[in-house]
Amino acid sequence: MKAIMATILSNEQVSDRYWHMVVDASALNTEVRPGQFFNVRCGDQLHPFLRRPFSIYRINPDRKTLEFLYLVKGLGTQRMTAMKAGEKIDLLGPLGTGFSLEPGWDTILLLARGVGIATLAALAQEAAANNVRSVAILSARSRNDLLAAELLQGFGAKVYKVTEEDGNSSVDDVRLLMNNIFQEHEIKAAFTCGSKRLSRLMQEISMEKGIPAQIALEEHMGCAMGVCFACVCDVLDQGETRTVRVCREGPVFPLDKVVLA
Ligand SMILES: Cc1cc2nc3c(=O)[nH]c(=O)nc-3n(C[C@H](O)[C@H](O)[C@H](O)COP(=O)(O)OP(=O)(O)OC[C@H]3O[C@@H](n4cnc5c(N)ncnc54)[C@H](O)[C@@H]3O)c2cc1C
Repeated sequence: MKAIMATILSNEQVSDRYWHMVVDASALNTEVRPGQFFNVRCGDQLHPFLRRPFSIYRINPDRKTLEFLYLVKGLGTQRMTAMKAGEKIDLLGPLGTGFSLEPGWDTILLLARGVGIATLAALAQEAAANNVRSVAILSARSRNDLLAAELLQGFGAKVYKVTEEDGNSSVDDVRLLMNNIFQEHEIKAAFTCGSKRLSRLMQEISMEKGIPAQIALEEHMGCAMGVCFACVCDVLDQGETRTVRVCREGPVFPLDKVVLA
């Protein structure tokens, strides 16, 4: 983990609610893993005092840049939209434990909802670099919010889009779609982010199919460095429930171990 003042290369609105930021990460000199995140200072004012966590959307080691895709929610993300190319942004990271791709997992299933798509995009990028085929279900409120679909297709992923707008994003619809995908593809592992409902479905189906699955959890964070214990969740460990920190032990966990309340 490193604290850097990174130069913003671009920061653009890409849909009604989403923005995309590219930063120069040449000062980092550290490997960044899909699923890890940066804790970002949203401007130079005292408020909001706490940094905000953002997953890495895309890692470009050749160009030494990092990309973030963010949804404008409250004050912190509103402040981020005011940042301009050429200005500096205060980043702390990479933080947390990222996803792992095991040898032999030649086809993987990604299930992302909303801004969870940002977190899984970097994994699709790493999968493509390792000749691993991704099959992705992207779920969002509207077609407009399915921002990473083209990016994932560019990585060779087979993408299925489901939205409220199209009336095909209910848990039952996604269950049906997942069952079809399992018939068509020999899925070796699954990954999810962005929705408790869909993660529970993925937990159920991955256990039923006997495949490993990983989840990137999003919890409200304080320090994001393991000190404040603001972002805890429960995991099952050898039959016992254990409380762990999402920022430190996670945000990526084996899905079968996570207690999804
Ligand atoms: C590990 C991790 C990775 C993340 N990656 C991304 C990403 O790539 N792109 C992205 O857009 N967002 C991501 N988030 C969520 C992002 O951190 C929050 O949306 C952001 O902190 C909101 O800040 P704000 O000041 O704009 O809104 P706030 O004023 O802090 O919050 C606005 C509303 O959102 C709720 N909220 C805030 N943070 C969270 C959270 N973590 N989970 C659920 N609800 C929350 C608040 O309760 C409030 O109702 C990630 C969160 C975590 C923990």
